[in-house]
Amino acid sequence: MTAAPRPLHAKRVVVTGGAGFIGSHLCRRLLEAGAEVLCVDNFYTGSRALIAPLLGHARFELLRHDVTFPLYVECDEIYNLACPASPVHYQLDPVQTTKTSVHGAINMLGLAKRLKARILQASTSEVYGDPLVHPQKEDYWGHVNPIGPRSCYDEGKRCAETLFMDYRRQHQLRVKVARIFNTYGPHMHPGDGRVVSNFIVQALTGQPITLYGDGQQTRSFCHVSDTVDALMRLMDTRDDFAGPVNIGNPVERSMLDIARLVLELTGSRSPLVFEPLPQDDPRQRCPDITLAREELGWQPTVALRTGLLDTIAWFDRCLAGGPEARRM
Ligand code: NAD
Ligand code: UDP
Ligand code: UDP
Repeated sequence: MTAAPRPLHAKRVVVTGGAGFIGSHLCRRLLEAGAEVLCVDNFYTGSRALIAPLLGHARFELLRHDVTFPLYVECDEIYNLACPASPVHYQLDPVQTTKTSVHGAINMLGLAKRLKARILQASTSEVYGDPLVHPQKEDYWGHVNPIGPRSCYDEGKRCAETLFMDYRRQHQLRVKVARIFNTYGPHMHPGDGRVVSNFIVQALTGQPITLYGDGQQTRSFCHVSDTVDALMRLMDTRDDFAGPVNIGNPVERSMLDIARLVLELTGSRSPLVFEPLPQDDPRQRCPDITLAREELGWQPTVALRTGLLDTIAWFDRCLAGGPEARRM
């Protein structure tokens, strides 16, 4: 495809982690909004298959790069999403996970500082750890084990938040921090070990549904289209609004509920089996999204049933060996 000239109004946007689950949706939505998009990814957990449909787009560019190394490009906005996100993935190489969060944040903040660009950090509800306050508001400081198997992710993300706020105070950077709660939808990795991907793949392949612990622990699941909408709204907020802001669905469900719903929606007869609860697994998690409602004019719109059907269709295509199968 011949490259069309860049529209004068086009914002130049860098998306680190743009070949991942959330990042690939964000890249597509930014292109639809008229931006010029540079996807920066080292394919640690992401995949070319997820951005293949964007590769021919005149305003899309892909750079294979590890954010723990400096990056010198030109842009107006940066979405910093690079980081493995599922416990199975981020615990594979915990030192690299911390480096990605911390060195990655420093490099992307340095880039934003040089360019006076806006920068958004994909932080996480994991900064609240196993919360003692419920639901979680942004002013809750969290209950995090600094030395456990989840710490590389939780503390790496907490340190990244610190860096974002210090670059704001010290260098007057225009930063935005999104605390994303559990997100699901098409482009999830079938082998990432997360509850939604595990249950759907198990149900579709007739394997037992693995409930960890008693299945009474809760999470709140937000469809990826809603999450991406919130991230773009947050980037567009006034300069003096940095967050952090919770982005998630305040409808809380137990893992047993999710298992039953997946069985119903797939028509599967897979049995439920109970396995040990992983160490430091939070008992409950639910966002208070008052701030997102007020500052972003945002709230989730996709009901869990609708979103799960959409996700089941994605995994169906993966298992059938379509182009999506390269995600497996
Ligand atoms: P993902 O693993 O699908 O995507 C992460 C992407 O970052 C991948 O494409 C991976 O290859 C890339 N990456 C990893 N390390 C890198 C490095 N050093 N340099 C360059 N690229 C690198 O995960 P996701 O679910 O899309 O998560 C995206 C972001 O959102 C992450 O920062 C994650 O912490 C955050 N988040 C996600 C959720 C969720 O439920 N999915 C919840 C809270 C926060
Ligand atoms: N950096 C980068 N791209 C840039 C500018 C900086 O990757 O366009 C990196 C640089 O390698 C540095 C980090 O960002 O290590 C932090 O930059 P900053 O200017 O804050 O710190 P300094 O360079 O003064 O250490
Ligand atoms: N979980 C489960 N069975 C699985 C995978 C996960 O019961 O096959 C549980 C897990 O112990 C946790 C919840 O589901 O309590 C959400 O796990 P996930 O890894 O998706 O997200 P996170 O723990 O990071 O919120």
